[in-house]
Amino acid sequence: MFRYTLRGSLWLLLYLLFILGPLFAMLAGTLPPARDFWTEFSVALGYAGLAMMGLQFGLTARFRYVTEPWGEDVIYHFHRKISLIAVALVIAHPIILFIVRPELLALLNSIQAPWRARFAALSTYSLIALVVTAIWRCELKISYEAWHLSHIGLALIAVAAGVAHMVGWAFYLVDPVKRAVWIGMVVFWLALLLYIRLIKPLFMLRRPYRIAEVRAERGDTTTLVMRPDGHSGFRFSPGQFGWLTLTGSPFKITAHPFSFSSSAEAQDGRVEMSIRNLGDFTADIHKTQVGQRVYLDGPYGAFTIGNPADMHVLIAGGIGITPMMSMMRTLADRGDTRPVILLYAAKNWEAITFREELDALQSRLNLSIVYVLANPPADWSGEQGYITAEMLQRHLPAPYHEHEYFICGPNVMMDAIETVLGQLDVPMAKYHSERYSFV
Ligand SMILES: Cc1cc2nc3c(=O)[nH]c(=O)nc-3n(C[C@H](O)[C@H](O)[C@H](O)COP(=O)(O)OP(=O)(O)OC[C@H]3O[C@@H](n4cnc5c(N)ncnc54)[C@H](O)[C@@H]3O)c2cc1C
Repeated sequence: MFRYTLRGSLWLLLYLLFILGPLFAMLAGTLPPARDFWTEFSVALGYAGLAMMGLQFGLTARFRYVTEPWGEDVIYHFHRKISLIAVALVIAHPIILFIVRPELLALLNSIQAPWRARFAALSTYSLIALVVTAIWRCELKISYEAWHLSHIGLALIAVAAGVAHMVGWAFYLVDPVKRAVWIGMVVFWLALLLYIRLIKPLFMLRRPYRIAEVRAERGDTTTLVMRPDGHSGFRFSPGQFGWLTLTGSPFKITAHPFSFSSSAEAQDGRVEMSIRNLGDFTADIHKTQVGQRVYLDGPYGAFTIGNPADMHVLIAGGIGITPMMSMMRTLADRGDTRPVILLYAAKNWEAITFREELDALQSRLNLSIVYVLANPPADWSGEQGYITAEMLQRHLPAPYHEHEYFICGPNVMMDAIETVLGQLDVPMAKYHSERYSFV
């Protein structure tokens, strides 16, 4: 924990340094002739916004060492929020300039404007398109894959045009040291991009997996059993996830994230993912052929079992059972007898994925299971509806703040449970969550 906090703080410091460093570098050495405050202020906003935009390539580059202290979902949420701030800074730059120097409005006429102004306009329009399509993707009915491709394209155009605009004005960059700082920054961003889109896929290409089994599960779910092909695979912690590329090569832009559902104790590198039919990609999973070559990038995530002395309360909603399944299978294989309570919310009795295996696991683990059904059968005497504070109190021994809680399910359910845990005075350090949506 301490190791993660320290590493997390170091990455945060480095992040700030990369954003603020180039800005302060502008103030060093020989300064160009001073301009009015608002012009300088707006330029500073533009530089800071651009530095933040460039670093987004690093945030989404899936560097395990960087994301580990927080978890991938937190990094993606940070990426979204910080991008909005960066875009706001970049857009504030011309708006302030237009207010204090209205004659610059003429630069909006892209036919007559110089190239440096055209690049500024291109960068700004790309940023606006980037934000609109990211926030309203579902409303605009853009498929995830098409959006992902356009997102990368627009980000590249926005940053490249922003740099071209900056170089075009050259005001501060006349100084060779400042120019070197910014050239270094741009080279660094390009290196990040090269790493994600070329080096990492090349590495994955040499480490393919083969489908060993395709298993139908309850609840419109299919389990893919995958074995490393010609290498020893990777080890993961139960609860972590990987990015799956099912067809095509690892150079394909979009991979899909799925938790590992198998035991982390498998010695032959075998991994399983259990995938529910929820959209266009997942609808065809059951058609996967045994022997098919696939690619896995992983493991990722910080959602994994905790202190062996604590009771583990696993709260799963729907397909959120998969990381919990990995945790329970692993504990069983390790002969670990820590007390575990699983609260598992499902649509109905028939849709309870892994139901038979869960019952069997009770004989290998110190495990109690509480099924919570949305549509229970007429003779159901168990829990139903939503998981509430009272329901937790009915099934958990007090004091509640001493247990460790693991939550995975639909966003609405996770938000509700986090509120419930707050009502039970469970400190944030005692609960862990994995969100299946990065939006
Ligand atoms: C960390 C993590 C672990 C997950 N584990 C599981 C699991 O074990 N089993 C399971 O069934 N599902 C899991 N999911 C959800 C799964 O990734 C999505 O259901 C799946 O990618 C949807 O793809 P689709 O094309 O079928 O559906 P679509 O209708 O295209 O997408 C549905 C939603 O899923 C999200 N999504 C789609 N594609 C991606 C992508 N490539 N990257 C990120 N988000 C995407 C988008 O928010 C989208 O709106 C997990 C998600 C995350 C983030």
